[in-house]
Amino acid sequence: MDTLIPFCGNPLDREGVRRRDRAWLQARLEDPTSRFLPVWQAKPLLKREPRALAWAKREFFADLEAPEPVFLGIGDGVSHFAVDVSAVEKPEVTFGIADVASFDDLRAAVALLPAEDAAVAAQARTLVDWHARHRHCAVCGGHTRSVLGGANRVCFDCQAEHFPRTDPVAIAVVVRGDQCLLGRGPGWPAHMFSALAGFVEAGESLEDAVRREVMEEAGVQVGRVTYLASQPWPFPCSLMLGCVAQAESEKIAIDPAELEEARWFSRDALRAALAGSRQDLGAPPPFAIAHHLIRAWVETDAGGD
Ligand SMILES: [Zn+2]
Repeated sequence: MDTLIPFCGNPLDREGVRRRDRAWLQARLEDPTSRFLPVWQAKPLLKREPRALAWAKREFFADLEAPEPVFLGIGDGVSHFAVDVSAVEKPEVTFGIADVASFDDLRAAVALLPAEDAAVAAQARTLVDWHARHRHCAVCGGHTRSVLGGANRVCFDCQAEHFPRTDPVAIAVVVRGDQCLLGRGPGWPAHMFSALAGFVEAGESLEDAVRREVMEEAGVQVGRVTYLASQPWPFPCSLMLGCVAQAESEKIAIDPAELEEARWFSRDALRAALAGSRQDLGAPPPFAIAHHLIRAWVETDAGGD
């Protein structure tokens, strides 16, 4: 299932062992075949036609005071890095690339990107953003530096290590017989429904988080929770953990701060929504894991849940 989900299937080898060797990393940085993905204010550089990652040579950044490139990994024998060029004003003009490439919002562009490019872009966006926001130590306030090619940061003063965050989000389709519970967040279009979701809190299992979220948001009791698939969600650093939750009650009582509406839908209704054949009911787009969770449930036999 995860092979169908955007941002999954990153093809790069992150080289967890060899990147500990500073000389090896330096050689990768200086290798003329190495490729660098510029990221500007969390937007990766994308070719205009067809849409794909726009890799650059290191010379591209020669005159630039950019942070140290972040090592993404090796693919087809070539080293890949991401570089934060956020300090540049009007970068497409400065770099003279406006005709062929643009810095674009990944959420808007993902549907047009090759699957492997989308996955690499997710890694680059999350890492570049994390480095930009963790220049100071959370323990002592001192300056931190990137180590292991950007796999983590270390404080100059107290030597504390800081690792890129990944924030787990529980997301679930809640099912009972032939019915599936979906919700609509405040401000969403009136016909748009999706799976219920929320951050896993400290000291909480994924299953407990699903049960708590569904009870808090919709007032429905959940029993068995089954994990299905995950998706990196680089806005900025989430990991969506997709589940099917078996409801043990039906009465809905929404929390209006979280949801504007929650309803039970039949397989037929959701099958039509996924096919785009219902004006009055919209399913999440294919770049969201919710789409794939709903589809997986719709495609199971009615008795198989
Ligand atoms: Zn420190």
